[in-house]
Amino acid sequence: MAEKETEINDLGEFGLIDRLTKDFPIKNEETKLGIGDDAAVLTFGEKDVVVTTDLLLEGIHFDLRYVPLEHLGYKSAIVNFSDIYAMNATPRQITVSLGVSSRFTVEHLDRLYSGIRRACEIYGVDLVGGDTSASVTGLVISITCIGDVEKGQEVRRSGAKPTDIICVSGDLGAAFMGLQLLERENSVAAGQKDFQPDFSGKEYILERQLKPEARRDVVAMLREKGIKPTSMIDVSDGLSSELLHICKESNVGCRVYEDKIPIDYQTALMAEEFNMNLVTAAMNGGEDYELLFTVPLSEHEKVEKLEGIKMIGYVTAPDLGAALVARDGSEIPIRAQGWNAFNSGN
Ligand code: ADP
Ligand code: MG
Repeated sequence: MAEKETEINDLGEFGLIDRLTKDFPIKNEETKLGIGDDAAVLTFGEKDVVVTTDLLLEGIHFDLRYVPLEHLGYKSAIVNFSDIYAMNATPRQITVSLGVSSRFTVEHLDRLYSGIRRACEIYGVDLVGGDTSASVTGLVISITCIGDVEKGQEVRRSGAKPTDIICVSGDLGAAFMGLQLLERENSVAAGQKDFQPDFSGKEYILERQLKPEARRDVVAMLREKGIKPTSMIDVSDGLSSELLHICKESNVGCRVYEDKIPIDYQTALMAEEFNMNLVTAAMNGGEDYELLFTVPLSEHEKVEKLEGIKMIGYVTAPDLGAALVARDGSEIPIRAQGWNAFNSGN
């Protein structure tokens, strides 16, 4: 550890909290009282409030050997914003709770918070509280996000109806291939001094893994065009898993066409290099933070014109089940093989 680094004990808990939270000016008038009291005070007038929370554990959800702390902070906030947008709501406030082991210095946490601050600036979200504790098992980050939505405008997982069109924003599988690349380079680097990985031509998949964005733009575009999805979910665990969530909650089935799944060129190249099935990577990869949603068939013409939105299939009656239609027309049942912290072997 470099000598200029500051031990957390030098600042103490309250000194640390002050330092980490001092450059977070309040941006939303709904935030009546932020950090500094026993609780924050929020006011939402006539709107409904949505709340989501995420727990991130070192060694399970992130690996600090190849994830810079700024990016980790940014991504920790973004994954929560993404959940709020997936409800057709707007994120307004977060609380950030930390468990920190003694190997972390104040400067490490400064970097984590600079990422959180950047996400809050870009997405217009206020940091209104949190908690800070020592930990014996590395870094623990828990973020809770609060958002608002006009009454009656929230979009749940449960509203899909047979004949609805299934749509997805952006492209899929890139974040997963980025992770494969980082893990490979990390294992190559182990035991080699001054190892410099060559990431040229792979910037997109790395950015998708390390610095994802939440699709605020997609939610805004749908609103602007007067399209209200019947159901929506963000793609965090993989398309297969999210499709099954919508099918289960809406009591429907679905057909998704293999050749309609949007996949970026770099993702395809990387899958080839790893000898992986590309469609499997796109269906089960996860961490894309794209939006998967359904719209009534009557919106077909409008949706067709939307930039960056792909129609990938349709909703069926429940007894037809969920299936992927392969290029040759055969149907493959969709199963959730999404990334799961409980069986990742950690
Ligand atoms: P309490 O004793 O009520 O738990 P704390 O002393 O832990 O209060 O926290 C003081 C203030 O700082 C509170 O407003 C709390 O929400 C905020 N806070 C504590 N830890 C963090 C953190 N890691 N990030 C942001 N805010 C924090
Ligand atoms: Mg506390």
